[in-house]
Amino acid sequence: MNYVSFDHRISPDCTPTGKGLLSLHLHPTWSRQRLDLDDTTITTDALVALRTALPSLADHVDAHREMTFIHRWQQAVLNRPPGGYKALAAFAQSLDPHSPIQLAGDYLSLTLTNAALATGERAAERIHTNLASV
Ligand SMILES: Cc1cc2nc3c(=O)[nH]c(=O)nc-3n(C[C@H](O)[C@H](O)[C@H](O)COP(=O)(O)OP(=O)(O)OC[C@H]3O[C@@H](n4cnc5c(N)ncnc54)[C@H](O)[C@@H]3O)c2cc1C
Repeated sequence: MNYVSFDHRISPDCTPTGKGLLSLHLHPTWSRQRLDLDDTTITTDALVALRTALPSLADHVDAHREMTFIHRWQQAVLNRPPGGYKALAAFAQSLDPHSPIQLAGDYLSLTLTNAALATGERAAERIHTNLASV
């Protein structure tokens, strides 16, 4: 288990009043081993994983679960190896700030929308600066 998100807290309108929506984000190795299995088997295994990590939450899910949905992400969050951020810093420093093509995206930072936005803003600032000096 990587983490559990309480989606009804992030987006209160995504469930009817009084209901909840949890997303279980499973480890890449766990997920790869089950990518081709049927939804029922994946659900069963995911609930076992939840019980191992968070038994009281698993009890709650067992008592109240109404539906499940399995989403198979072929690629999802960034999973950098040790030293990955050093390599990323070296890569970012190797980029030409004066190039008419500027890169943006979460792969230049963390797997977060805010990080993706920040890299986009920086790329736009560089292009703006370059155009202003032409
Ligand atoms: C399951 C999951 C849960 C997440 N939860 C959160 C969260 O709660 N909060 C949060 O802040 N972030 C979350 N994230 C991360 C967030 O979604 C990403 O960090 C963010 O969307 C990255 O934005 P981006 O613009 O860099 O890339 P993307 O949103 O991935 O956009 C890249 C786009 O490029 C397109 N593309 C790819 N290759 C090509 C090509 N060759 N030609 C043309 N187009 C191409 C893709 O189709 C895609 O539309 C989550 C991600 C996942 C997978």
